[in-house]
Amino acid sequence: MNELEDIKTRIDIVDLISSYINVKKAGRNYKAVCPFHKEKTPSFMISPDKQIWHCFGCQKGGDVFSFIMEMEGLDFGGALRFLAKKAGVNLTSVKIIESGLNKKSLLFELNNLAASYYHRFLEESPEAQIARDYLIERKVDKATIIEFRLGYAPKSFSKLVNFLQSKGYKSDDIVKAGLAVKKNRGDIADRFYGRLMFPIINPAGAALGFTARILTDEKVAKYINTPETEIYEKSKVLFGLDKAKREILEKKWVSLVEGNMDVVSSWQNGVKNVVASSGTALTRDQIKIIKRYTSNIIFALDKDDAGSEALKRGIFLALEEGANIKIADLGEFKDPDEMIKADNLSWKKSLKESKPCLDFYFDKLFGKISKSEQDVTFKKKVASEILPFLKRMQNSIEASYYIQTLASKIQVPESSIIEALKKIKLEKHNEPRKTQGKVVKKTAEKITTEALLGLLLSFPVTLEEFISLLEDEDFQNQDRQLFHALKQIFEKNRNFNLKDINDEELKPYASILMFITEEGYKDADNDEIFKEAKFCYKRLKEFKITVLKEELRFRIKEEESKNSDNLHNLMKEFQEILEKEKEIKEF
Ligand SMILES: [Zn+2]
Repeated sequence: MNELEDIKTRIDIVDLISSYINVKKAGRNYKAVCPFHKEKTPSFMISPDKQIWHCFGCQKGGDVFSFIMEMEGLDFGGALRFLAKKAGVNLTSVKIIESGLNKKSLLFELNNLAASYYHRFLEESPEAQIARDYLIERKVDKATIIEFRLGYAPKSFSKLVNFLQSKGYKSDDIVKAGLAVKKNRGDIADRFYGRLMFPIINPAGAALGFTARILTDEKVAKYINTPETEIYEKSKVLFGLDKAKREILEKKWVSLVEGNMDVVSSWQNGVKNVVASSGTALTRDQIKIIKRYTSNIIFALDKDDAGSEALKRGIFLALEEGANIKIADLGEFKDPDEMIKADNLSWKKSLKESKPCLDFYFDKLFGKISKSEQDVTFKKKVASEILPFLKRMQNSIEASYYIQTLASKIQVPESSIIEALKKIKLEKHNEPRKTQGKVVKKTAEKITTEALLGLLLSFPVTLEEFISLLEDEDFQNQDRQLFHALKQIFEKNRNFNLKDINDEELKPYASILMFITEEGYKDADNDEIFKEAKFCYKRLKEFKITVLKEELRFRIKEEESKNSDNLHNLMKEFQEILEKEKEIKEF
């Protein structure tokens, strides 16, 4: 078995994809909302039998490699290295190894090596005592340190660089990975110096960068992050997602916190469906990533946060993206970490008692205000606080419920609230083109061809009937190759099985066509299938005839001007085509 197949047999496509998005069983297959184009209803399908995926919306599809290429933005060599590592397969083919070099996968590799290096340093080096003490003081236990691969960056400008260079990595790549900085004379130095290291790990388990915390009172930034690299985009990572994803899917909600330490504490406290925006203000991209797993988000807010504009903006974004938001009240505590340290049960309790977002804000606003103090100024303030939330609510039932609530709370007619809502203008956010996904436009002929081939491959009744009526010339390019192979196999075996195709490129193409067809016709009986095949067959022939007619018309015109003898033959040919056309129509 070659290395490629070895990787494929060790990595299950459903496992792999469900580590990135929420997939649901649908008959023999699985479906999901496509991560590559914008959609509300799932058209992304996974076939565990065929180990392939296909999106009926944007037409993207393929195997585990193509999924990782799309998802992580890697080229084929990169995806190969990425998955080889995951599968524990050693790549020996030099050609394959080199094809992935100097690409994103190299940056993953470097960050993973660095994570292991920092982790070992934390565990073993006397110099890292300060970090071990800090973790003991923060009550982070051994298992958690291992789980999160926490580490310590030595107080040295060269230790990591030397380690990586000794393994043969080039200075340029170490800098590109965000692990070192360039110095004046062209040499490089470790970027992280004397800091506790939190590796940021993607859903497939690969480290792509770090958040680093200083442990002394030095007058430097408390936290620093990996700079933007080809694999690390701050606005698109969520700390802890790799560990939280399973639990999020199971519990159907996620708790969103601010700091990495909150995630670590929460995880150790038994609440594992938790992720952090990792020090940045929550971004739309982060919400979109969360929404691949769940729409139910619990924000953890302390008493200062409730008024925090940054957090409110985060909630606004989440509402705009159609999330259901609840808020856990941290009361007097600064963050979940502090809360857990103070009382083991309080965090779980506050999550359990979390309130729908607007209920939380109503309570905050009305909490300490007596009835007599609820004058016009106060009512205006309430309205101006609440309306921006209402405006962004995607669920109209929920929105109308809160319009009613607001109306009765501040004693105004609902209609004036609806009027006020109309006046609020939301900033338009332009979807970056990349996330919209390109929908591949196919010609009608190509669509018909694929449909027909899919039917021939999937249903023996159609194969027997139509294969002898078709010829290689009815197809083009890869479709022609596939038809040719199919015909040969059928002539030899009188039936067709996917494993009879030997060509490495045709096989995945054929399996995708079969997958699409089997999905599309899963409720159809033989009669309907036969009718469909007949319809496609006729259309395909008609396409061909139309082209032939056009060609002939053109040639006849040419010959007419020359008064040549050939004209007679051409007219005869044209007549034949018309007969053929009639034949097809009546078929
Ligand atoms: Zn899609």
